[in-house]
Amino acid sequence: MKKTNFVLVLFFCLSFSIFANGNKENLWQNADEKKYMQEQKFSVYKIKHKYCSVEIPKGANIGNFITIRFNSKKEIKRAWVSFINQNNNAIQTLRAFPINEKKTKWVAIAGIAVWWKPDLWQVKTKIMLNDYVFEDIKPFIVAKQKFPEFIMHLDQKNTKIITKKTKKKTIQRNRFKEVIKTKNYQAKLCPGPFIKPFKFIRISSFFAEKRVKKYTNKKSSTSRHWGMDYPARKGTVIKAPNAGKVVLAENRVVTGNTIILEHLPGIYTLYYHLNKIYVNEGDFLEQGLPMGEIGSTGFSTGPHLHWELRINEIPIDPRYLLERKLY
Ligand SMILES: [Zn+2]
Repeated sequence: MKKTNFVLVLFFCLSFSIFANGNKENLWQNADEKKYMQEQKFSVYKIKHKYCSVEIPKGANIGNFITIRFNSKKEIKRAWVSFINQNNNAIQTLRAFPINEKKTKWVAIAGIAVWWKPDLWQVKTKIMLNDYVFEDIKPFIVAKQKFPEFIMHLDQKNTKIITKKTKKKTIQRNRFKEVIKTKNYQAKLCPGPFIKPFKFIRISSFFAEKRVKKYTNKKSSTSRHWGMDYPARKGTVIKAPNAGKVVLAENRVVTGNTIILEHLPGIYTLYYHLNKIYVNEGDFLEQGLPMGEIGSTGFSTGPHLHWELRINEIPIDPRYLLERKLY
């Protein structure tokens, strides 16, 4: 090899390795620098097999959701997704569900939990056709996200709501858990897009905000706030932001008058502190249907709507629903 050629090859090798490294560095730097709710864009792995294909996003920030797609020429029998952490433990395994009548298109929708460690994880998918099973495993970036912190001084009423242990609270908590962990695969498919439950302008509390609650008895506790709070005049009407089934409509000690809507298997939106509830459990609501009024019932310091999203029990920032469909 001539000397100039050798230098050229060396130059290419070096610049490629710098480029490759630089790319990786950038990926992580972007994850760190990401400002609150500026959704980081990740591309998607498109894996092709003989009769089917799988699409897996390459990453997501904590508090966001992702959609994994399975497509096939033949009917898909079953499909699953697992999230594997840096210690090689499967942290979450989800069943996908069909989104067309021929059952050739399936999706799994996963929430990236705020408590997951930002790191390089893996996503494992499995797709079952009549005679074939295809498995894939791909790296997956769980990216950081910053959340605000807040010290809250509670009055007598709110201190009592939170600290007093009652049988009623336990019963309500158990029912709540039961409702949101239900994965009803017969659920009507309502992927969105969602609209705002009312024309909110101001935000009084953010998703995943870290709250230090100071009680009147000088004790304190720390928790996270799993929804968005939008203040408004008492009596402001809220509308179903997307079609869904009312799976819970009751007065609760902590969350006041509460509505839970089911939109997809394992996917629920929650509405707290309402002044009035217009709907009943079992009702199927069309998008835009008035379902209640904003109030200040339960653990609350003024009239506002607490809007929450749960995906397979995991709380996710509901504002993502206003940006894109669930699938
Ligand atoms: Zn709230």
